[in-house]
Amino acid sequence: HAKEQGRNGYCFFESAMNANVHQQLQLQHDLRRALDQREFLLYYQPKLVSPDGPVTGVEALLRWQKPGVGLVPPDEFLGVAERTGLIIPIGNWVLDEACRQMRVWQDEGHAAWTVAVNLSTVQLTHTGLVDVLRSTLARHSLDPACLVLEITESTAMRDAEASLAILNEVAALGVGISIDDFGTGYSSLLYLKQLPADELKIDRGFVTELTRGNDDEAIVSAIIALGKTLGLNIVAEGVETSEQQELLTRLGCDVLQGFLLGSPVPGDQLARTLPTAA
Ligand code: C2E
Ligand code: MG
Ligand code: MG
Ligand code: MG
Repeated sequence: HAKEQGRNGYCFFESAMNANVHQQLQLQHDLRRALDQREFLLYYQPKLVSPDGPVTGVEALLRWQKPGVGLVPPDEFLGVAERTGLIIPIGNWVLDEACRQMRVWQDEGHAAWTVAVNLSTVQLTHTGLVDVLRSTLARHSLDPACLVLEITESTAMRDAEASLAILNEVAALGVGISIDDFGTGYSSLLYLKQLPADELKIDRGFVTELTRGNDDEAIVSAIIALGKTLGLNIVAEGVETSEQQELLTRLGCDVLQGFLLGSPVPGDQLARTLPTAA
């Protein structure tokens, strides 16, 4: 009897696993088609000093316009894209498209903006990143200083030595480096200190808890103090209320990002979501 149960359990597990493998293969196939058929697009979310402006930059966020489904957020396909290596061509497309849009904004007079692109570990350690950056910037006649790469602590920590070497090359090229989702990873202060970063983004998790009267105000103050000691620009992500915004500004946060200041929108719609002073 026990044996039979075990076998049933095994069968159940196996079919669940097959379903999962099948799903992943289907997704992999769909992602390849998405690249060929140009189903990806970028949304942009502004980074502002205050709700009245000015804008310091915009962050490019990947979306997939899947036929018959609608807009698919990146969390639903980045894992498979990373495991299959498809993140390399997808990531190169993101870079090119963000730079193309940046050229348009520069021509419209937004000379002080930077455009930030998120980078996964696979992209960071894949050979040729620096060459891709250089050629993409040249193709759109952009100064390296108007591009920022957002990497998470865990992205940089995965292969710490190699990442550091590549990030130093990126920095030498003049491209900005931002540490995304700060506070959720496990990087040592010694490693942080070595990173050639320009910006630190406080993870949304801390911002959400900020005005709920727990320890997060102390944590955010400590992160800001640490970041400033390291000479970094401090950005808070996920700012949704004016209460959060006021407190963050009072605590010394330089730049704010979140639904309160502007949700991610297609590039050609960004201007009308911005304060007039921006
Ligand atoms: P992230 O870089 O930390 O981006 C912030 C995420 O929070 C975005 O989700 C954004 O839409 C969302 N967000 C912004 N403001 C608020 C707010 O006030 N409240 C709330 N609840 N959410 C807010 P999204 O676009 O779904 O992206 C999720 C993650 O996917 C990003 O997190 C980033 O790690 C990754 N990602 C996005 N685009 C790319 C890409 O082109 N390449 C790579 N490798 N990763 C990307
Ligand atoms: Mg980001
Ligand atoms: Mg983030
Ligand atoms: Mg985040």
